[in-house]
Amino acid sequence: MNTRTIPVSRGSRRRGLIVAAIALVVIVILAFAVQQSLAAASAAVSQQTTTSDASAPPPPDLTGSVIAPSDADGVIRDGDQPTVFDTDRVAIGNLDPALLDALQRAANDAAGDGLEFRVNSGWRSAALQERMLQDAITQYGSEAEAARWVATPQTSAHVSGKAVDLGPLPTLDWLAQHGSEYGLCQTYANESWHYELRPDAVTDGCPEQYADPTEDPRMQP
Ligand SMILES: [Zn+2]
Repeated sequence: MNTRTIPVSRGSRRRGLIVAAIALVVIVILAFAVQQSLAAASAAVSQQTTTSDASAPPPPDLTGSVIAPSDADGVIRDGDQPTVFDTDRVAIGNLDPALLDALQRAANDAAGDGLEFRVNSGWRSAALQERMLQDAITQYGSEAEAARWVATPQTSAHVSGKAVDLGPLPTLDWLAQHGSEYGLCQTYANESWHYELRPDAVTDGCPEQYADPTEDPRMQP
């Protein structure tokens, strides 16, 4: 009996080993498949978060830039917006002195209402403007559509230091009501943040806004 039972138990042990080996292979394959699908899912998530909102103005997104503009070009990064008093930053310090004076007087008066004048974009170098224009052409697919948002280095009032993009929203509300008292006027109906100096506005009020930069005769090449 003993001689018969031994081969049987050896055979079942071998089968057990084969089953275990197959199970191990299946586990390895499953683990690989799960890892692959997790990688695909995380790639999809990161792609989603980098998709930009087409209704917003083109942000000065300078990642992947061929010639990366620097702080010396007037670059202002998100979360690092200076006030109109931070003249050590070239984006503020290179603004037209009359515009800067009006901005600082307005900001001092608005400070009583707990408001702060933050600058999202001020003076820009021609190189930075050109980079933004090229990015806008890529983003909007044509020079004509890009021109609705971004001027050329030759026509931009930012490059000449005569325009400033302001925030946050409560400050823009305040400026819409009181800006003209300082000669500060919104230029374009589609850019509630873009202000320029119109000295006559102090007595006459601000001129009618252009719908967008393409209606501005100064923007014509
Ligand atoms: Zn602007």
